[in-house]
Amino acid sequence: SKPIVAIVGRPNVGKSTLFNVLAGDNISIVKDTPGVTRDRIYADVEWLNHKFTLVDTGGIEPESKDIILSQMRDQAQIAIDTANVIIFITDVRQGLVDADAKVADMLRRSRKPVVLVVNKVDNFDRQMMDVYEFYNLGIGEPHAISASGKLGIGDMLDEVTGYF
Ligand code: GDP
Ligand code: MG
Repeated sequence: SKPIVAIVGRPNVGKSTLFNVLAGDNISIVKDTPGVTRDRIYADVEWLNHKFTLVDTGGIEPESKDIILSQMRDQAQIAIDTANVIIFITDVRQGLVDADAKVADMLRRSRKPVVLVVNKVDNFDRQMMDVYEFYNLGIGEPHAISASGKLGIGDMLDEVTGYF
């Protein structure tokens, strides 16, 4: 069967935007409200000669006791457990926050291959310095992308499919 690639990260970093770019239509819901996507959503994706199933998740707020946010975290954990490769998205505009480090710890425990993505890099020249701090997560090289601007997507997919 096809490899499964899960998109995880905190709410509002652009998971569903990336999902929709890769899925090629609007299967997932994108809203400005954090955590709008509550259920896992699947799409079949083909990149060059690679086929995989992509899974969007509602997002992970590591320390929240809110019922909905903790359910979203549980759903994301299920997606992580099911995945062959994980796309971990962060947000260059917010910078590296403590919750990103906690998500990174969850992902390390999963022992799955993780592709670290820094989203919202709409201007590579101006924002590249801000991408480097994500090396501090200790899970490898950060890949700058702009999901809404469709920048850096091919290099990211090369890395993802390289783990199949
Ligand atoms: P999710 O909660 O992680 O699924 O995040 P969404 O995909 O719903 O996006 C949250 C917000 O970030 C929306 O307002 C998107 O339009 C915005 N966004 C997503 N990707 C980018 C990007 O590459 N650049 C910028 N500037 N905004 C983005
Ligand atoms: Mg979403």
